[in-house]
Order: sequence, then C-alpha cells, then structure tokens
Amino acid sequence: MPIRLEGIHFLVTYRCTYACDHCFVWGSPDAEDAMTLAQLASVIDQAAELGVTDVYFEGGEPTLAYPIVLAAAKHARGRGLDAGIVSNCFWATSLEDAKVWLAPFAELGIADLSLSSYAYFVEDANEERLRNAVLAAGELGIPASVLEVGAPADIGVPGACSGDVGEIMHKGRAAVVLAPGRAARPPESLVTCPFEDFTDPGRAHVGPDGELQICQGISAGNVYAGGDGPPAPEQLAAPHPDGLRRVLDAYDPHARPVVRDILAGGPWALAQAVGHGPAHARYADECHLCYEVRAALRAAGRYPEVVAPGQCYAENEPGDDADGAASPAPQT
Ligand code: SF4
Repeated sequence: MPIRLEGIHFLVTYRCTYACDHCFVWGSPDAEDAMTLAQLASVIDQAAELGVTDVYFEGGEPTLAYPIVLAAAKHARGRGLDAGIVSNCFWATSLEDAKVWLAPFAELGIADLSLSSYAYFVEDANEERLRNAVLAAGELGIPASVLEVGAPADIGVPGACSGDVGEIMHKGRAAVVLAPGRAARPPESLVTCPFEDFTDPGRAHVGPDGELQICQGISAGNVYAGGDGPPAPEQLAAPHPDGLRRVLDAYDPHARPVVRDILAGGPWALAQAVGHGPAHARYADECHLCYEVRAALRAAGRYPEVVAPGQCYAENEPGDDADGAASPAPQT
C-alpha cells in the first residue's frame, strides 16, 4: 500500500554558515547546491494535492536563500499548507535586525520557527543571536522553539528553552567526527532502527538533488525524475509534475534494497545482507554502523539510487572521503 506523508522538509540548500560536527548532511560554507523556486513550488503543489499538511524549510541554513524561501513559504501558505523554518539565527545580530528578517514570515502566518542552540557544540557559546531571534519572534507573534541538541540551552528568556534535549544521532558528519570517541556497543547488538519508521515515515526530506530521503542519505526515489534518480538536467529544471506521487506509489519498504534490510534487522542485518565486515569493534549507536555500511555501498557504486544523494556521503567535501570506516580520529 502506498505510504502517505504528513510533512515535507526541504533541504533548501546544503550551504551553511557553520560546518557542525553533528550535521547529518555535511552542510558547510563550501556546499553549493540550492533548490530553485521552480523545484520548491513544484513539490509544494504536488504535496498539497497529496494531502501533505506541512512543509519545513531547512538545510544547511535556509535563510542563505532568503528571498527564495520567502517566496516558497508564500506559495505553500497559498496552497493551504502550514510552513515552518529551521535556522541557526546567524542573521539575528540585534533584536531590531531580527525583527526585520522575521516580519515577512510573520505576515505569512508561519507556524513554527525552530532555532538551533549551540550550547553543546561551542564552548562558551555566545547565544546572543539566538536570544535576539527568540525575542523577535515573540514580539512578532511567531511560534518559536529552541532546538537543544546534546545539552540544555539557557538564553535568559523565561520559557524559551524546554530543557528537552535531543540526542545526537551519529550519521553524516557526526558518524565520522563524533562517533569514534563514543563507541561502546558491539555491531551485532545494533539490530533495529530506533529513529525512523520506514513503513510510515510521516515526513521526508527533499533537497536540490530531488531525492526523497526517508532518512538522511536513504532515498525512496527521486521526485524530480518521478522514479529512481539521478534526474536528467531537464528534470532538474522542470521537475516531473507527478513525481512525488509516482515515488510514493512505487515505494515498498519491504522490497527496496537497503531499506528492507534495515527494516528486517537494523544496521547489523544490513551489514550482513550486503557482506560488509564492520570496521570497528564498537559503535556509538545504530546510525554509526548504518552510515558506515551505506557509505561503503555508495563508494562501491552499489544501490546508488537508494544510498543517495552523494552530498550525504561527503562527496562534496573538499579533500574528504565518503567512507566512515576509513575516516580520521575524532577532532573533539
Ligand atoms: S539506524 Fe540508519 S536508518 Fe535508522 S535513523 Fe540511524 S542512520 Fe537512519
């Protein structure tokens, strides 16, 4: 039975002002790919037709494409969708400036502004910009929340930080940079995926490449191509008008390579199914082994239509390799 999505999360650009150790999609100032307004509007129109209720604009840092995100958010609101934004607040240099950045989104009735805290990742983090953004959102009536990952945040605004700290999942850059220093579990114990439900994912990510990612770096199909990717140049310029429905109709988690194995027995079953010998005796979590196996598949050219896009495997990193198994020691 075809799956139904409630949410589409747009990876508007992989470019970011930071290159955080915990980033799943290898976002960085060097990343170049960004979605066009035509791509965003096409997927928004299709999503609305299919009963999707909300879209998020994230990245990378989506506000690096500010006018495109604003136009796309307006388009989504016009199609009756709720819209949210995830941002690192680099633009909130003062309260007054933050209000200038956010006022157009307030006028659109943005449903949620999720703002990242760096308390865990940056020693003595100056969270003044986060504070400015939270205060500006409050004054403008935009519902806002602080994303606390790895450690609680405290920005001196009563009620702004919940203390509900999200755990770090060791995929993408986190698998390479953070996971080796936290590895304590044997690979044969990693027999489930605790974080994603491939039979009912609820939301999926779409970026400049068009891959419908049900976990970062695991594609259900390419919405620009209307099937498995990569899309042809003309499909990047003008996405298949029915691509999202075609991908969702064709998606069978029990038959799709990689997905079926994770579903059957987690990353350990995936490793066994594809003949991957674990490179380490201990892993930080399920995602650490999962990413290592998938990166090895990608590097070997196996199931490229599923282990995609290449951005999630560091293929656009200057001078880096894509294989978590062969990665350097953690930097922190
Ligand atoms: S175990 Fe694999 S599929 Fe599950 S959340 Fe982690 S990286 Fe994604």
